[in-house]
Amino acid sequence: MSVDDSLLREDPGVYKTLLESTRAIPWKIDWATLRFAYIGPQIEELLGWTPDSWVTVQDWADRMHPEDRERVFNFCVAQSQAGVDHEADYRALRKDGEFVWIRDVVHVVRNPDGTPHALIGFMFDISERKRTEERLLDMQRELEELSYKDGLTGLANRRRFDMMMDAEWRHAQSLRQPVSVVVLDIDYFKQYNDHYGHLEGDECLKRVARTLEGVLRGPRDMLCRFGGEEFVLLLPDTDEGAAMAMAWRCLDLVDKALIAHAGHGSGRRLTLSAGVNTVVPKEHDEVTPFLATADRRLYLAKERGRARVVCDDGVL
Ligand code: GH3
Ligand code: MG
Ligand code: MG
Repeated sequence: MSVDDSLLREDPGVYKTLLESTRAIPWKIDWATLRFAYIGPQIEELLGWTPDSWVTVQDWADRMHPEDRERVFNFCVAQSQAGVDHEADYRALRKDGEFVWIRDVVHVVRNPDGTPHALIGFMFDISERKRTEERLLDMQRELEELSYKDGLTGLANRRRFDMMMDAEWRHAQSLRQPVSVVVLDIDYFKQYNDHYGHLEGDECLKRVARTLEGVLRGPRDMLCRFGGEEFVLLLPDTDEGAAMAMAWRCLDLVDKALIAHAGHGSGRRLTLSAGVNTVVPKEHDEVTPFLATADRRLYLAKERGRARVVCDDGVL
């Protein structure tokens, strides 16, 4: 439905009342002069600018957020010239300097030859809707972040590891570079829990996580909690020697952290065991057997007495 001048003239009271009692703010711009023929008085309540301060389309453009101005102005002019009804969301400047999100819904009234005669529209205050949208986006971002994080230690979780491992695997395949993993497992952690209690066990896992973060060399190294009391280091572009050195550094850092483990022998400290695997993956190589080998080596380290690093398969 469009607002017809003649109807307004016949019964101006009814239409004026209707127009000026809605929450949406009506307006009209004459295309020939690009001047406001009308704007509802509600505009003053929303933006603080009096109706008579809206004189030309320049006033409209000037009262728009600088980041929105060019996009919205160009879009609205192009649509109007093409005679197409349209709508645009933008931040309108309030007299007090704040911005309000507005949706402008525009109807193009055309001359018999198709050229624009006037623009008639409604401005809607959509700031609440925008706030809700932003809150939802924030929540979505937060959820996404949480879905890749281990809740206890804040480290990357298994899901994140799988994703990064796949990406690094493909990268190593295409560039024929080595990729390494170090699988780390706390020794005698069951006894730790039995001796200190599960809550202390949780604290211990957090402490080990913070300590192990100390080995990371840069943003591509990734430490993740693989599950339980097991951690894994993903080391792109790292050969076997460097990966071994990193694994020993992990064990060393935890040793130096002097985390007591009285539940296992007297005067003993918490230790880790590690299994290391390195490969330059060929085109058809798969990640799963690569990780399985690292895991097997971890259990060899356990068998050989714990608190050590293994990077061979024990076959002489
Ligand atoms: P090993 O030296 O062979 O690794 O022995 P272990 O006792 O460390 O290994 P095992 O797999 O028998 O036990 C792991 C323990 O880790 C059992 C489980 O209760 C504990 N655990 C796993 N996840 C958590 C956790 O989130 N918090 C706490 N406190 N304990 C956990
Ligand atoms: Mg263990
Ligand atoms: Mg374990």
